[in-house]
Amino acid sequence: MNTTISTLGSHCSLQVLKGAKDEGFNTLLICEKKRYKLYKRFSFIDKLLLVDTYHDILSQEFQNQLNELNCILIPHGTLISYLKPDQIESLKVPIFGNKYILRWEADRHLKQKMMINAKLNTPKSIENKFDIDRLCIAKLHGAAGGKGYFLAHDKNSFEQASSKLINEHIISNESELYLQEYVMGVPAFIHYFFSPLSNDVELMGADRRYESDIDGIGRVPSRHQNNVNLEPTYNVIGNIPIVLRESLLTDVYEMGDNFVEASKSLISPGIIGPFCLEGVYTSDGKFVTFEFSARIVAGTNLYVNGSQYSNLFFNEEMSMGKRIATEIKNALGSAKLGKILS
Ligand code: AMP
Repeated sequence: MNTTISTLGSHCSLQVLKGAKDEGFNTLLICEKKRYKLYKRFSFIDKLLLVDTYHDILSQEFQNQLNELNCILIPHGTLISYLKPDQIESLKVPIFGNKYILRWEADRHLKQKMMINAKLNTPKSIENKFDIDRLCIAKLHGAAGGKGYFLAHDKNSFEQASSKLINEHIISNESELYLQEYVMGVPAFIHYFFSPLSNDVELMGADRRYESDIDGIGRVPSRHQNNVNLEPTYNVIGNIPIVLRESLLTDVYEMGDNFVEASKSLISPGIIGPFCLEGVYTSDGKFVTFEFSARIVAGTNLYVNGSQYSNLFFNEEMSMGKRIATEIKNALGSAKLGKILS
């Protein structure tokens, strides 16, 4: 095959390129120089293209290089956190999936519109700090991996925590924060794949995140917590697998189907390939979705050998990375590449 699968070196790049290699593609990693030592260890990466920063991919010269190698670029969280939606849309390299939907992930208002259209239960948005009348979570915009998030229960606690972020130059203004009702329950991230070729929504796995230091706070007895004024943060360190109660799967599929339909009506041709619904299961087993990702999420790194769910559909170990590669291979084989690229 003379098609090359390429991605940025971070997030889930190992899984994506391993899957691509297993499916017979050439593989190329766009790699920051500081990460070269890590990525040169993996023999399934055919070519490493070194850059000073991922912004370098915006140059036409760099994109020409990718096009000469017949590259398809797989977007993931790092692409979204480095480049603005306009910049991603301006790329002249074929991107797997619908690159225009990535704007809907990055923009809180579009995101909310998509979730409402998909009939998902969502937490209440709190418009400003004077309206904080319950436990809330304050979030930074964009794919920050939970960094800088904090909890607030009233205006004062919000101001205290946000001025800390301002002092640390993480934000320059309170208005950069997005406030949402805090939903009590257990978090779950549900990984799906939508194939425009077969028209199927596939459940590929689920995970929860392991976050510092909200997941460490329970290791400190409450008398110490009260005395040292701990402010939990939500910086993602890793992921933990989840198998859902089977009786929850009816809703899981319905949510996935509804999301696909909503995406088709709002940003044609809709979602293509991986996406993730991210939320909290409350005590009555209802899922409240606080976010979605319109591309592969890093939680899928858990399932390089397939998951409990992907093993039900496929007679081989199917990671999300490999699933992307098989979709591209099937599209190439049936001359339908136009259906899965943008
Ligand atoms: P995010 O980066 O928005 O996916 O969220 C990072 C973490 O914040 C999640 O793993 C959850 O633990 C937590 N979180 C985000 N939004 C909410 C919410 N509305 N209610 C409860 N927890 C939340």
